[in-house]
Amino acid sequence: MAALFLDRDGVINRRIVDGYVTRPADFVLIDGVLEAIALFAKRFDRIFIVTNQQGIGKGLMTEADLEAVHSGLLRQVAEAGGRIDRIYHCPNLKSDHSFMRKPSIGMALRARREFPDVVLHQSVMVGDTASDMLFGRRAGMQTVLVGDDTGLARSKSHLVDLCFPDLIGYARYLEAKGL
Ligand SMILES: [Mg+2]
Repeated sequence: MAALFLDRDGVINRRIVDGYVTRPADFVLIDGVLEAIALFAKRFDRIFIVTNQQGIGKGLMTEADLEAVHSGLLRQVAEAGGRIDRIYHCPNLKSDHSFMRKPSIGMALRARREFPDVVLHQSVMVGDTASDMLFGRRAGMQTVLVGDDTGLARSKSHLVDLCFPDLIGYARYLEAKGL
């Protein structure tokens, strides 16, 4: 079955440049995201978030801090009629070269192990960076780039299947196509 893998920062919530979301007050949803996830919930069998959170590895936040941010998100998603089946995060530093850290595909393989009905080549990865696109490509997924980085879309066009300004743009595209 088809799963939707969503990056978090810059896709679901506003990215903090050179910083980390360490508490719920820093977690600001991008417009249309809750509506988008409610639409995705009708179209995808599973919805996952896959997020690198090296702020934990750096000691800037704890697992409990992250959990507080995510429980707030899950509550809002559910209230809006959406669903997120599981959130995977990698706490390791970039310098740890963890297989669980994007662009390596450990989080995708873990999702497939925990939800064995997920077929990666029928699934979609949505992200806002080249690392996300590489993660999706390496895992055999369709890749969707969101955000306003048109330079990235051009320079990494071999990694990007579809491009939208934001998550709700992609959700409305699927709805319009009846997909
Ligand atoms: Mg991101």
